[in-house]
Amino acid sequence: MLVVMKGDATPEQIDAVCDAIKAMGFQPAPMPGAQRTAIGLVGNEGPVDGSAIGAMNGVAQIIYVSKQFKQVSREWRNENSLVTIAPGITFGGTTVPIIAGPCSVESEAQILASAHGVKKAGAVALRGGAFKPRSSPYSFQGLGKKGLELMQLAQKETGLALVSEAMDEAGAEMVAKYCDCIQIGARNMQNYSLLKVVGTLGKPVLRKRGLAATINDLLLSAEYVLASGNENVILCERGVRTFDPATRNMFDLSAIPIVQQLSHLPIVADPSHGTGIRDLVLPMARAAVAAGANGILVEVHPNPERALSDGAQSLYPEQFAQLVGELRTIAAAIGRTLTPPPRTAARVAG
Ligand code: PEP
Ligand code: MN
Repeated sequence: MLVVMKGDATPEQIDAVCDAIKAMGFQPAPMPGAQRTAIGLVGNEGPVDGSAIGAMNGVAQIIYVSKQFKQVSREWRNENSLVTIAPGITFGGTTVPIIAGPCSVESEAQILASAHGVKKAGAVALRGGAFKPRSSPYSFQGLGKKGLELMQLAQKETGLALVSEAMDEAGAEMVAKYCDCIQIGARNMQNYSLLKVVGTLGKPVLRKRGLAATINDLLLSAEYVLASGNENVILCERGVRTFDPATRNMFDLSAIPIVQQLSHLPIVADPSHGTGIRDLVLPMARAAVAAGANGILVEVHPNPERALSDGAQSLYPEQFAQLVGELRTIAAAIGRTLTPPPRTAARVAG
């Protein structure tokens, strides 16, 4: 349930509604807006009778949230949520950040070359995996803590924001210490204990869509993070498994505007995992910006033939540089700009 206050409601009237919600045994979540304040009611499992609150002074309207997901819904919050992962890097507004980097952090030379290359081309965040969820237990599993230390070194040299995946609770705490944003991968989309943990670590979360997840499943998994106290969630469309082996996954472009209709959270597109094929990443990245994606995540490797994971879908640095130029033109066509690169190289996450 959502209580929408009148535009001229006083702070005392807002406090009185919050007290009334508490007296019913629930928590109030006030959300001041540009025009008026809305107060969400959190903690109910079933329908709540809002008629008494509806009659209180200063209340304009009671809205019953009809979806299974609540705090992530547009009914709950009409304006787009802005999620800032580092100074100047915000998802959900009119600027579009580009996140790029290799699938895995492999060595100091590889991650530094990647970071300098993607920064020069126009990326604002470096993404590299230190903990890798590989389909086979015998495949490269990532460098772990050492990988995060190398990411931090790359940040010292470039000032890029850092995004990296966590697969379990201990890993999430470590990623939160070294990086600006914690990625939860497709295979962990419904790992509810991990979602609850990243709800408490105080760092933004990049939430990928599961391999066989519906859009409803994706939004419900984000709801876990918000319900655990973290509103800074960025959703990510990365394709779903289908019957067709022509691509690694089927990139669901329509998920972008659908999610934006249903939710106030930003959604970025990952056409690398979405297609699995280097030459398809470029047109799908362009299409995603045109469709209104709130950011792009692409895999770029200084030497894709030698990559320890996902080489076939990793762009060559020159391809990435050309792509960024094209994305700049496409963003302008829909009244957006690409987020400019950080000006300083001195920032360290943590
Ligand atoms: C990745 O980002 O490298 C990755 C493993 O992605 P996903 O979880 O989408 O498969
Ligand atoms: Mn990958």
